[in-house]
Amino acid sequence: GQCVAVCPVGALVENDNSWDVVDALADPDKVVIVQTAPAVRAALGEDLGIAPGTSVTGKMAAALRRLGFDHIFDTDFAADLTIMEEGSEFLDRLTRYLGGDQTAKLPILTSCCPGWVKFFEHNFQDMLDVPSTAKSPQQMFGAIAKTYYADMLGIPRDKLVVVSVMPCLAKKYERARPEFSVDGNPDVDIVISTRELARLIKRMNIDFASLPDEDFDAPLGESTGAAPIFGVTGGVIEAALRTAYELATGETLQKVDFEDVRGMDGVKVATVQVGPHELRIGIAHGLGNARKLLNRVREGETFHAIEVMACPGGCIGGGGQPYHHGDIELLKLRTQVLYAEDAGKPLRKSHQNPYIIELYEKFLGKPLSEKSHHLLHTHYFKRQRL
Ligand code: SF4
Repeated sequence: GQCVAVCPVGALVENDNSWDVVDALADPDKVVIVQTAPAVRAALGEDLGIAPGTSVTGKMAAALRRLGFDHIFDTDFAADLTIMEEGSEFLDRLTRYLGGDQTAKLPILTSCCPGWVKFFEHNFQDMLDVPSTAKSPQQMFGAIAKTYYADMLGIPRDKLVVVSVMPCLAKKYERARPEFSVDGNPDVDIVISTRELARLIKRMNIDFASLPDEDFDAPLGESTGAAPIFGVTGGVIEAALRTAYELATGETLQKVDFEDVRGMDGVKVATVQVGPHELRIGIAHGLGNARKLLNRVREGETFHAIEVMACPGGCIGGGGQPYHHGDIELLKLRTQVLYAEDAGKPLRKSHQNPYIIELYEKFLGKPLSEKSHHLLHTHYFKRQRL
């Protein structure tokens, strides 16, 4: 059942789905798997007595295992998959655009933030064919889990329960969009926020601080350094550039850090050289900044790719995270956790992820294949103007 947690001052009523997780874990007929968004590991510890700016990735995996999930997976895997699809879509559009094809729309807009997606569906209805058609990592994870992974386990999709831990309240709404279900069975069954996971860990008397560091499970738990930075403003574009560069030029990218797309300015504009092409990149976080940037596009300013995140700093500042009250120093500490995780990974480009390579070899074929389109891409709707 659903339980409603009420804020002590009555300013906020929040859907708490953590009891749904408890019910699913208690059901002997279900296989229950969990995915954790990149930003969660950068802030979860704050609600569990750990200093801000501390990565709790390993403890989080350990806590989820003790809660009783059957397999501990990572939205970061699906972030790498998103880059494969969105990066390929970007290159396809760019090639056609540069070749003079009038139907090729640029700038491509990122589509992994449901707050932003809903905003443009309401406010930029003349531009519904401009965003990437790539689903968000949360939804790509669910679509692959309920097909490829359920097949691997040899179980029907309705025996598998996919739980997401998200920094975000809009992800609860995204999960419920009808186009993300098959015959009434959703790709993602339950979404809990970072705060709800912290409460669940406390309620189950797990001593978080003394847990060992553990790993995610294979195959849907493996990721490259391009994935954790999805949680900060500028990160999705940086991850996409790393892969797009290598796919476009066939050369190895020597310097994977794109410093110009990083940082906390509300709107950033960067120029990046990819082979013979100079690409103009726009980045906005906060919907007011997004509106400003999109109005510049409407007025004819040239951009090739634009990333938008609805929350301050990106998902690290999401509405489901431990409260940050707009504290920019705290958001910077969370940001550092994710850049450090990226820098510490042996592989830092999404197309190098061996489990992503295997997924394409065994199941999807290639990026933008018919199967990839069917499972990993979506479309947008005109919604009543707000
Ligand atoms: Fe959710 Fe905010 Fe991240 Fe968008 S930026 S996906 S609304 S947490």
